[in-house]
Amino acid sequence: MTATLPRPAADEGLRDRVAAVLPVIRDEAATIDDRAVFPAAGLAALRRSGLMGLLVPTSHGGLGGDLSDLVDVAVALAGECMSTAMIWAMHGQQVAALVAHGSERLRAELLPRIARGEVYVASVTSEKGKGGHLLTAQAALRRHDGVLHLERDAPIVTGGEHADGFLITMRDAPDAPPDAVSAVYADRAQLELSASGSWNPLGMRGTHSGALRISGRVGGHQLVGAPGQFRAVAVRTFAPAGHVAWAACWLGAARGALRDVLALLRSPAGRRQFDLGSELLRARLARVRMELDSMAALLAQCLRDLAGDTDPEAVPVQLRLNALKVFTAERSFAAVDLLVELVGLRHGYLRDAPLALERRFRDLRSASLNYANDRLLFANGTLALLDRGVSLAW
Ligand SMILES: Cc1cc2nc3c(=O)[nH]c(=O)nc-3n(C[C@H](O)[C@H](O)[C@H](O)COP(=O)(O)OP(=O)(O)OC[C@H]3O[C@@H](n4cnc5c(N)ncnc54)[C@H](O)[C@@H]3O)c2cc1C
Repeated sequence: MTATLPRPAADEGLRDRVAAVLPVIRDEAATIDDRAVFPAAGLAALRRSGLMGLLVPTSHGGLGGDLSDLVDVAVALAGECMSTAMIWAMHGQQVAALVAHGSERLRAELLPRIARGEVYVASVTSEKGKGGHLLTAQAALRRHDGVLHLERDAPIVTGGEHADGFLITMRDAPDAPPDAVSAVYADRAQLELSASGSWNPLGMRGTHSGALRISGRVGGHQLVGAPGQFRAVAVRTFAPAGHVAWAACWLGAARGALRDVLALLRSPAGRRQFDLGSELLRARLARVRMELDSMAALLAQCLRDLAGDTDPEAVPVQLRLNALKVFTAERSFAAVDLLVELVGLRHGYLRDAPLALERRFRDLRSASLNYANDRLLFANGTLALLDRGVSLAW
């Protein structure tokens, strides 16, 4: 992967689809951030573009893309608006799980609708009490005559009020332990949803990730993966796709920031205002570029790991995938922080400055919290103890 669209192998059609969406999301980025509202025009453009079905196999009417395509598109979208990019990328994470682990019947019924842009899928994994922990659940599924009954509090659901479907994790049964987690797909029409609380965060304001109370009934074929075995879905597909998708969004936001700063510095006005020969300015630029190249290199290695025959559960692969999440969360934020320092208060800190660095700074502050970095560092510390040979990839 390179950090520019298109990759040599990227298909022209994909590039055109992205190009059609970018002006729409660019136009509403400031407004959705200001008002903390969902990017309705951006999602409509994404639905029209076919990109909602990027990961849906062509046999089900989709574009048949892979994680590398997901990264290219997410990087491009996040260069304009990280909220819209994250909404789309998380939908991609849900779709990856549905494609790889959905039952034959669920795939046949659902994937063509996703490919047509009719179904935007939101994620319900967090839960009060357990927080973000992906591999445990509290609220339990109940079964009556083959029908699955859901009652679930969801404290933070990106785009929940606008989603057409939900991938929901729950404890498999009332007598099951917390780590017997099942994933269920539910159409909005199968659920009663009530929104509670407000959504007024520091950043990622356009994701409109408010709380939902969910109840409803779905068919047994809507289980995604084996009952109580969400761990396999998470380790093989859901977490890798999520880490890659999130990293692409964070890298894309930082890359967009550097691109806009370079445009300013090299403009006639910028040349008058900034001393491009300054060693301090050049050293700061060099550091930001180094951060971006380092993030991109780790992302590229993770894509290679996931594309090959390597077992995604192999210790070195898990180490890199977790590191990708933590590293890009930290370094994308640091890169934009340094760009704020470089251009100063007028261009970097004012809310109405055209560079939008302060919006990117606020958005990227969420990255370490969006699945707590601490959880992954704890996991990687344990894995590092197991990998006594320190097997690295290059
Ligand atoms: C913009 C955004 C969008 C989101 N969208 C969704 C969504 O659509 N659906 C959804 O389900 N969730 C969503 N989330 C929630 C997210 O996935 C996490 O569940 C949530 O951010 C975790 O909240 P928390 O900070 O309370 O962390 P928790 O994971 O609950 O952790 C609480 C505290 O404990 C610390 N901690 C936890 N575990 C360890 C450990 N092992 N070692 C050391 N310290 C530890 C953490 O660092 C943190 O300080 C979103 C979050 C954000 C920021």
